[in-house]
Amino acid sequence: MSRPTRARIDFRALRENLRMIRRRANGSRIWAVIKANAYGHGLIPVGRVLGEADGLAVSSLDEALALREAGIRQPILLLEGLFDRGEIQAAFQAKLEIVVHAEFGLALLESIPLLWPRLWIKIDTGMNRLGFPAHAFPDVHGRIVRLSATAPGLMTHLASADRPHDPAVQEQLSAFDRLTRGYPGPRSLANSAAMVQYPESHADWVRPGLLLFGVSPLPASDAESTGWLPVMTFATAIMAVKQIRRGERVGYGGVYEAKRDGWIGIAAVGYGDGYPYHAPGGTPVWVSGRLYPLAGRVSMDMIAVDLGSEPVAIGAPVILWGRELPVEIVARHAGTIPYELLCGVAQRVRHEWVDQAEDETDHAETVDRLSL
Ligand SMILES: *Cc1c(COP(=O)(O)O)cnc(C)c1O
Repeated sequence: MSRPTRARIDFRALRENLRMIRRRANGSRIWAVIKANAYGHGLIPVGRVLGEADGLAVSSLDEALALREAGIRQPILLLEGLFDRGEIQAAFQAKLEIVVHAEFGLALLESIPLLWPRLWIKIDTGMNRLGFPAHAFPDVHGRIVRLSATAPGLMTHLASADRPHDPAVQEQLSAFDRLTRGYPGPRSLANSAAMVQYPESHADWVRPGLLLFGVSPLPASDAESTGWLPVMTFATAIMAVKQIRRGERVGYGGVYEAKRDGWIGIAAVGYGDGYPYHAPGGTPVWVSGRLYPLAGRVSMDMIAVDLGSEPVAIGAPVILWGRELPVEIVARHAGTIPYELLCGVAQRVRHEWVDQAEDETDHAETVDRLSL
């Protein structure tokens, strides 16, 4: 048996989440945000499955060109714009839509006379990360119009859309509205959290990322309770079991001490695979249909699980997160966010992209096994 650590990516769940997003978007077009290797799910396989999205959004030219080389023809948006002059020709030839968010990027584009199919102006309405300040907008708009074959897109990013009824969100929405009123061109404001909680932000294009992968962007909920379908199952198996007596310790630093005689299971996954080192004792781990507490520190290649009074078989299936155990819950235990856990699944973990039959049979068919 080879090392059983796997990330299973369920295409059917991905398509279904996109359909649910489509219904929620209520007529808005969809930029499917698949930066960071599609949040750890595999850029190219995921990009291919999202043919129904109106466009794909990524952070780097490399990601965009990889999608084009894979034959993907949808609009592609470069969310962070261009980083240097050397990227301009390739981006233009690949027909990318570019976010222009600062004077530096605008000057770059002006340095080579081209007529871009569509440029997007990012306006800072309060997040103070990327984007032109409000006072610069009219001038910037005039300059970008000269570089564009179509009316520039207008976008901003919301800092607190994961909080309900947040006045800061309302302020950003009205600042954007005030500033852009009367200008032509498509508008885009909403990430996953805004899609769910602020329908008034949907505008012409929504920009969901996390929701595609069936994970809730709201801190207090998990996707299971909201109907989204987790796309990734991060799984492994039990590779050893061990009987221990009350008072014995487990793992580095002896952090875990057995309260009674019982069994410990060792699962083949660790921080070297992307399981969070900071997950404390008690973090739930699914083993053969039941949840057990993590015992002691996470090692590079292994974790220990408190199995209680009964052992399980060597090879028993283990799920770190997935439909059986929402990644939101593991993230909460580990003091992080689901985004980081998904993006952090390591290269060495074998990814399997499966397309489960529409009738929900158990026969997961491996359709593709592309390297990352
Ligand atoms: C990453 C990103 C998104 C998607 O965010 P989610 O919270 O995953 O939906 C949307 N817009 C921009 C500009 C982003 O960088």
